[in-house]
Amino acid sequence: MPDELLVIGGGLGGIASALRAKAAGYSVTLVERLSNLGGRAQVLTFGGYKHDTGPTVITAPFLFDELFSLFSEKRSDKIEFVSLKPWYRFYFQDGSQFNYGGSNINILEEIKRFAPDDLNGYQQLVAHSKKLYDVAYTKLGDIPFNNLSTLIKAAPDMLRLRADLSVWKFVGRYIKNSQLRRALSIQPLLLGGNPLDTTCIYSLIHYLERAHGVHFAMGGMGNLISELEALMLRQNITILKNTTVEKIKTEKKSIKSVITNKGDEISAAQFIYNGDPLFLYQKLLDPTSIQIKIKRHHKRSMGLFVIFFGTKKTYDDIPHHSIWMGPRFEQHLTEIFDKKILPDDFSLYLHRPTATDASFAPTGHDSFYVLAPVPNLTANINWEVEGPKLEKKIISALSKTIIPDLKKNISETHIMTPVDFAKNYLSIDGAGFSISPSFRQSAWFRFHNISEGYNNLYLAGAGTHPGAGIPGVLSSAKVVEKLIT
Ligand SMILES: Cc1cc2nc3c(=O)[nH]c(=O)nc-3n(C[C@H](O)[C@H](O)[C@H](O)COP(=O)(O)OP(=O)(O)OC[C@H]3O[C@@H](n4cnc5c(N)ncnc54)[C@H](O)[C@@H]3O)c2cc1C
Repeated sequence: MPDELLVIGGGLGGIASALRAKAAGYSVTLVERLSNLGGRAQVLTFGGYKHDTGPTVITAPFLFDELFSLFSEKRSDKIEFVSLKPWYRFYFQDGSQFNYGGSNINILEEIKRFAPDDLNGYQQLVAHSKKLYDVAYTKLGDIPFNNLSTLIKAAPDMLRLRADLSVWKFVGRYIKNSQLRRALSIQPLLLGGNPLDTTCIYSLIHYLERAHGVHFAMGGMGNLISELEALMLRQNITILKNTTVEKIKTEKKSIKSVITNKGDEISAAQFIYNGDPLFLYQKLLDPTSIQIKIKRHHKRSMGLFVIFFGTKKTYDDIPHHSIWMGPRFEQHLTEIFDKKILPDDFSLYLHRPTATDASFAPTGHDSFYVLAPVPNLTANINWEVEGPKLEKKIISALSKTIIPDLKKNISETHIMTPVDFAKNYLSIDGAGFSISPSFRQSAWFRFHNISEGYNNLYLAGAGTHPGAGIPGVLSSAKVVEKLIT
């Protein structure tokens, strides 16, 4: 019993925590409410097309390699990661395009072509981004931040590097071209934050991408999840799917056991929670303690509206990852994050996995998903009505611009709205990425990796330190490993 450990939730943070706990000597069981592991990284198949429903961009591939190395295995023996070129293509309303990434030299050439006056500024931005990376990622990204003393020690570095600036202001210090400034400011949206108020600590991503590239897992994220599941099974980790933890039994300051939807009681010595921390504190634990009251005011990330579709022909000019920039930026974000209204316009992320991996569609066809940031469920939006309307508008806009004749060539579609995020992943207010990554919700201010009030309950995943996104949640498992060993 003293070495029994239960992981609640099979997202990437839960999987990584289970593997790390196993390597540390625990006897591990993982429970997941869905019928497949992966959390937001699910797979949808219909009409002969395959779609990853969540993450697609792999940065920091070494964090996956580490999980296999824990058991003297090699990730590359199980699944291939392909480095993409370009990383992303930005499409602007005036028809211009900006290809971002592929190799460091290409970026400079592309900036020289697109915004020559910003070449110097871009190099300064990357130099600043590297300093942020060295401190916030290398030094602090995988250490526990549950003691105020850690924050106090880190504060001088954070102030020196201007972590108080928003990403939008940070990029604006270096980049004058308005299109390029917008393009280089979008990273927080990939983690659920508003670029206008997300701390520029997240601008370390510029350097992270340059240092390690942007990759795609062949066969898709679903394939990667299957390989991680097989690794867990080889290590005798018990996996219980279709199992929801509905109640947590406590005794004084300890968790004793959990009760599942099947009525089973599972006891353990240590527990790791991988779901939304707001759900844990509001619905599964007694929400009356003082610390928990403070945390309850956390701002959620935005919601996501996603359309999955195939096309009866291929669009060979469209790269693997595209960003279709809408007509407005600051006002548009303010409507989504602050005014909580569904804007008339949109900006889009477009995923075309068939650019890299033909297995996602029948021969001669393409598989796509397109995603728009939208308000979460704290907004008064009836998604049953607005979802189909928004779908029509997005398909029409793409059909007129970068996917000509899409309306004619599109196959059956499937949509996901914030309602699905709430229902499927128990994400409070249907937030796409748990709580948002503002300065006041980062590091010590974020949900700690050891729980408030209980000495044997740990947290890994997007709502905890260091944050959302694959590198963030895999790093949160490293933090938990330090806490449990
Ligand atoms: C559409 C989309 C695109 C994204 N694209 C990228 C990208 O390209 N690159 C990137 O790095 N990041 C991306 N992200 C972010 C990234 O996917 C997430 O931050 C990350 O996967 C979250 O992992 P997690 O460990 O927090 O767990 P989650 O994925 O949130 O999984 C938690 C799991 O816990 C389960 N669970 C919750 N409560 C219970 C309970 N009580 N009992 C049992 N099980 C429970 C849930 O069912 C879920 O399966 C994207 C996210 C989305 C939604």
